[in-house]
Amino acid sequence: MTGFFETRIEYLKGVGPQKAALLNKELDIFTFGEMLQYYPFRYEDRTKFYKIKELHPDLQQIQVIGKITTVQTVGEGRKKRLVAQFSDETGSMDLTWFKGVQWISRKLVKGVTLVAFGKPQLFGSRFSMAHPELEPLTARQDEGAYFQPVYPTTETLKHKYLDSRGISKILAVLLPQALSRIPETLPDRLCASLQLLSRPEAIREIHFPSSQQNLKKAVFRLKFEEFFFLQLRLLKLKLARTEKFRGRVLSQTDLLTRFYKEHLPFELTEAQKRVIKEIYADLKSGLQMNRLIQGDVGSGKTIVAFICLLVAVDSGYQTCLMAPTEILANQHLDGLKPFTEQMGLKIALLTGSSTKRQRETIHRELESGEIHLLIGTHALLEDVVVFRQLGLAIIDEQHRFGVAQRAKLWAKNKDFYPHVLVMTATPIPRTLAMTLYGDLDISVIDELPAGRKPIQTVHRYDKDRLKVFGFLRKEITKGRQVYIVYPLIEESEKSDLKSLIDGYESICRAFADLPVGILHGNMKATDKDFEMARFVKGETKIMVATTVIEVGVNVPNATVMVIENAERFGLSQLHQLRGRVGRGSDQSYCILMSKYELSKDSRIRLETMVRTNNGFEIADVDLRLRGPGDLSGTQQSGLMDLKLGDLGKDGAILAQARSAAKSVLDSDPELSLPEHRPILDQVARLRKNELNWSRIS
Ligand code: ADP
Ligand code: MG
Repeated sequence: MTGFFETRIEYLKGVGPQKAALLNKELDIFTFGEMLQYYPFRYEDRTKFYKIKELHPDLQQIQVIGKITTVQTVGEGRKKRLVAQFSDETGSMDLTWFKGVQWISRKLVKGVTLVAFGKPQLFGSRFSMAHPELEPLTARQDEGAYFQPVYPTTETLKHKYLDSRGISKILAVLLPQALSRIPETLPDRLCASLQLLSRPEAIREIHFPSSQQNLKKAVFRLKFEEFFFLQLRLLKLKLARTEKFRGRVLSQTDLLTRFYKEHLPFELTEAQKRVIKEIYADLKSGLQMNRLIQGDVGSGKTIVAFICLLVAVDSGYQTCLMAPTEILANQHLDGLKPFTEQMGLKIALLTGSSTKRQRETIHRELESGEIHLLIGTHALLEDVVVFRQLGLAIIDEQHRFGVAQRAKLWAKNKDFYPHVLVMTATPIPRTLAMTLYGDLDISVIDELPAGRKPIQTVHRYDKDRLKVFGFLRKEITKGRQVYIVYPLIEESEKSDLKSLIDGYESICRAFADLPVGILHGNMKATDKDFEMARFVKGETKIMVATTVIEVGVNVPNATVMVIENAERFGLSQLHQLRGRVGRGSDQSYCILMSKYELSKDSRIRLETMVRTNNGFEIADVDLRLRGPGDLSGTQQSGLMDLKLGDLGKDGAILAQARSAAKSVLDSDPELSLPEHRPILDQVARLRKNELNWSRIS
C-alpha cells in the first residue's frame, strides 16, 4: 500500500505522464512527497517598484512601471535585436530582445502602462533590460503582490512549460490536498518552546508566503527540522558507540609525574592542561576514546600527545603516531626523540622509504612489544603492521586522512580497540565540527604559549617586490630565515612548477651571496629530506617551496613567510602556511604578494589574513566564502543532503537543533515516550526514503 506522499507525481491533476517523466529525469522528483519538498531557492520581491532614476547595476531582478514610447529593430543578422524605449516620469531605459523578435514586436503596445520585470544592466550611461517579463499594470493589481517563489529549473523544463511558474502551478494543485495529511515531526513541547510554525504551515508558507515574516518563520522551522534529525542521528551513533565499545583502562601516571618533574621543557598553557585532563578522563574511563583535538597552528598539540602517550606506555601498552607526510613524520621523530630518550622509551619510524630490513625489524619489535612508540605515515596502516598491544593511536592533521583510515587503526589489535586521538590544526566552527566529527568528542586548545608575538601580516603588490627583497635581506642579516612559497595546486601542473623554478632562479640572482634551498613535491624523498635538513640547521637562509611545507614543519628561527600569488590560495591554506612562522620568540612576518587586479573573494581572503591571526575567525570567513561543500568530510556525513540548511550561514540554527536533539535523547534515549512519537515516526520515514533511494541508484 502506498500512502499519499508516495503517490507518483504523474497522477496529480495537470501533470500526466509526459511532464512526470521530465520531472523524474530533470529534477529527481518522482512522488507527491518529493514535489512538496522541492523548495524555491529565492523569492522575487514583487512588492517594490523602482523608478528608472533609482536603478543601479548591482540590482538583481526588479520591476519598473512605465510606458513604451518607441520600438525599433537594430543590427543585422545574428546581432539583430528589438529595442523598445521604456519611460517613466524620472527617465527612460531600453528593453531588448534578441530572440522571438517578430512575435514580441506584435505584443508591444505603446501608451499602455506596463510593469517590466528583469535585471537592469548599464551600457554606457543607459540602462537596459534584456528579455524582461512584461505585464499591463492593471493585470497586477488584484494579484496579491507578495514574494513570488523562484524554483530551480532547467532549460529543458522551461521549454515544456515547467518553468518556475509551471512548478508553482503544480504545487498550487498539490498543496491543498496535502496540507491536512502532512504529519508533524517534532514534539509539541519543542514546537511551543521555540515558537516554531507547524510543519504543514511551514510547507505552505515556503511555497506561497503570506508575508515576509511568515516566510522567515517557515524557513527557520524547516531548517531546524533538517538539522534536528541530522544531529539526532549523529548523537545516536555516538551513544551506540560508547555503549558498544569498552576500552582498556589506562591510568598509570608514574612516568608522567616523572616527566613533569624532571623534563618538562616549559610551563604548559592552561588550555593544554585542560585538554590533557579531558583525555586522561577518557583513557581511564573504561570506554574507548575517540577524541579530536582542535588547536590552531603552534598551539602545542605535540606535547599534549606525548604526555597522553606516556599514560598508555606506563599502563603497559604501545602507541603510534601517524602523520600525513614523511617530512612531518621525521619531524615528529626528531622532536620527540629527546623526550623518549629521557624517559627510556623505544621509538621507531616507519614510512614509505623504510627499507625491507628496517621494516622486518620494526615488525618483529612491534609484535614482541619492545617498541613503545611507532611514528610513521600511511605505512602504519598496512595489514602487516601488527602490534602486541596498541593502547593509543594518535593521528596528526586529520584533514589529510579519511574516516576509513581512522577505522583501519581501530582494527590494529585482534581483540580490542585502541583509544584514538585525532589532532587537527584546521580550525572549523564548533557547530560544524560537531557535525562533521559528530562521532568524536572534541577538545579545543584555544590559547597559544605565552611570549609569542602575533605574526604581522601585510599585503603587497608585485610591483613592490624590490622593497620586499630589501626587507628580507635585513631580516636575514639579523640571523633569521625566510620561506618563499609558490602555489602548486596540483603537483603535476607544469606551468606552476615553471613559475616555482623561475622564482627560485630570480631569488638566487637577487641573493647571490646567500645559500637558497628549494623544496617541491616532484623531488625524491631523500632530496626533500636533505633540503629540509639544511634549512633546519640554518645552512640555507631562504627556502623556496611549494605548499609541501604547509603542514606542521617547525623551524623557530624562520621568521618571514612570503606567499607568492597569494590570491590563488584558499584561506585555510594561507593560514596554515603562515603558521610556519611565529614559532620562536622573535617578531615574525607574513607577506602576501599578489597581482593588482583581484576578484572580490580574493580581496576578502587577503584582507581577512591581514586583519586577524585567529584561526577560528578565519575558518568562519572561509566557510562563508566557500560553503561547506569543499570541506573534507562533508560528503560522508550526510550533510550534502541538506535541502535548505546551509552550514556556512546557519550555524546558530544548527547549534539550537543539536542542543534540542541532545536534550530529547538525554531524557529519553530510546525515544519511547509518547510525546516523542512524532520523532520516531519521522526517523522511520527518513530511513525508508534512504532505502528506496539506495534501491533506485
Ligand atoms: P602544533 O599545535 O601546531 O602542532 P607544536 O606542537 O608543533 O604545535 O608546537 C609548536 C612549538 O611550540 C613547538 O616548538 C613546541 O615545543 C612549543 N610549545 C608547545 N607548548 C608550549 C608551551 N606551553 N610553552 C612554550 N612553548 C610551547
Ligand atoms: Mg603539529
